[in-house]
Amino acid sequence: MENNIFYEAFINSQEAILIVDKDKNVIASNRAFEKLTGYNCKEIEGKNLFDMELLGSVTYKVKNIWNDLEEQGYWQGELFLGKKLGVSIPVWAQFQYVEKDGTILYLVTALDISQQKMMENSIDFLKNYDALTGLPNRNLLNDRVKVAVATAKRMKVKVGVLYLDIDNFKMINDNLGVPLGDVLLQKFTKRISILFRETDTFARIGGDDFVLVCFGMNYNNELLVIINRIRESLEKPFYVFNNKINLTISVGASIFPDDTDDPYKLISYAEAALETAKDYGRNTYILYRPKEHVEIKDDYTLLSRIGDAAKNNEFILYYQPKVSFESDKIVGAEALIRWQHPTMGLVSPMRFIPLAETYGYIKEVGEWVIDKVCQQLSYWSKRGINIENISINISPIQFSDKRLKDYIEDKINLYNINPSHLELELTESMVMRNFELSLEIINSLKAINILLSLDDFGIGYSSLSCISKLPFDILKIDRTFIMDIEKNLQSKKIINMIINLAKTLGLKVIAEGIETEIQYNMLKEMSCDEFQGYYFSKPLTVEEFQAKWINNKKI
Ligand code: C2E
Ligand code: MG
Ligand code: MG
Repeated sequence: MENNIFYEAFINSQEAILIVDKDKNVIASNRAFEKLTGYNCKEIEGKNLFDMELLGSVTYKVKNIWNDLEEQGYWQGELFLGKKLGVSIPVWAQFQYVEKDGTILYLVTALDISQQKMMENSIDFLKNYDALTGLPNRNLLNDRVKVAVATAKRMKVKVGVLYLDIDNFKMINDNLGVPLGDVLLQKFTKRISILFRETDTFARIGGDDFVLVCFGMNYNNELLVIINRIRESLEKPFYVFNNKINLTISVGASIFPDDTDDPYKLISYAEAALETAKDYGRNTYILYRPKEHVEIKDDYTLLSRIGDAAKNNEFILYYQPKVSFESDKIVGAEALIRWQHPTMGLVSPMRFIPLAETYGYIKEVGEWVIDKVCQQLSYWSKRGINIENISINISPIQFSDKRLKDYIEDKINLYNINPSHLELELTESMVMRNFELSLEIINSLKAINILLSLDDFGIGYSSLSCISKLPFDILKIDRTFIMDIEKNLQSKKIINMIINLAKTLGLKVIAEGIETEIQYNMLKEMSCDEFQGYYFSKPLTVEEFQAKWINNKKI
């Protein structure tokens, strides 16, 4: 055969060719085959295909090949061909059955398709990964979150989804240029990615939007730990093209199974929570809470201490004077809590009350306020300081707890105070949520002779006629109406109407947040009874308030 012209053609063919006999022992192979696999003809001659690593990695497929060959005399398809140096290459292979004069041969040809495979892989990469950061894109994220939820269901663990958005990224892009923005996104990705576990998926799904899927959580708080870790890692600035850039992020979070067991909803809930986080003024994070339809502003640093804050004497009450329009004198005050946090300073109730409500600390916080106010009223009355009205804000969660009345009653008795000096501020939304139950609780509170006011009136949905069925004493017009009153004729009309209707129902009216003389004069003219606001005084410490009261009464 070796002198044959056909042999020359075979040996020099550009196509890799291998010939095996009926027992699959190699008879011959050509140069192209050697180039492709590293095996020269002499090395493999006489060896059985199955004894070599040549087709080893796909033996299951190889069996099919021989079956097909026997049945159809022909097989073609993709195969991995083992190379002498150990790695395999993808080839397009054809097996041909040849028979002449009782001799059976198989002709195997192989075409290197590794280039094509690489192209396919990079197309696959583009389909599933973000080219700028190398992170999974939305496509792959959808897959991963589906798998994560399904696995978590089986393993009875939780999946947390964080929707992250870089604050003011558009501004950075607009002011410092897109190339810088791109590098910043890459640096951001690099810094953040190392914070997560391998089982987590961190994806970029557009512009400055990222999603993290945390698999295998046991407690919801773990998500707060992760959020905190991300925020901490952003405390250091980024340096891009000689620019020092500080980044903050807004985060929305949702949890399987708490919020939903639908993987896609899990992402969209986190996105919805993110929108709320942005509304809160960015650099913050919100956990989605579909059950109560509220999103709650959280802070892990606060959460870790809130349980001990009362015990550690970290809460303080401030008192904001309520002033009578008629006498221009202080007639009482609203008690407003603050938290003197050891590292964060004076923390606003707007920040930690929602946290206390979500994580079950509100009862303790609320009880601390009630106790403190009752104690203070008793202190004043013993010293002849006749402050006859202090109001306390009540959280919806406290309000729906039937034991609230007993707690207040116990404190009134303990400190021996006049119950009518105590006022509870409730909000429209909390009483309207379950009108029947509210009526029952409100009646029981009225039965111990304390005063009830409707706080933040005007921003809810309730009508005055509905409110008229509840025995409120006082109505507090929300600050947002007062803010508008100078410029917005409509606000002025609404306030006028509220005051008139409230008066008809026998309620006293207080305007909240009076900041200017004009507002003061307008409300006075509308026969509003009392007001609170910076125009007269900000919330004061107890000593400041007491001094102001004594001074005020002397005039
Ligand atoms: P709120 O009951 O509507 O209290 C009035 C808020 O408006 C207070 O904010 C007060 O400082 C502020 N304010 C008063 N006058 C003015 C003004 O002229 N201009 C402006 N811009 N603001 C004014 P603060 O103390 O931050 O309290 C915020 C909210 O936190 C309260 O709103 C109340 O809902 C809640 N809160 C405060 N203390 C407690 C508490 O002990 N328990 C509960 N559950 N909630 C509380
Ligand atoms: Mg209030
Ligand atoms: Mg208010």
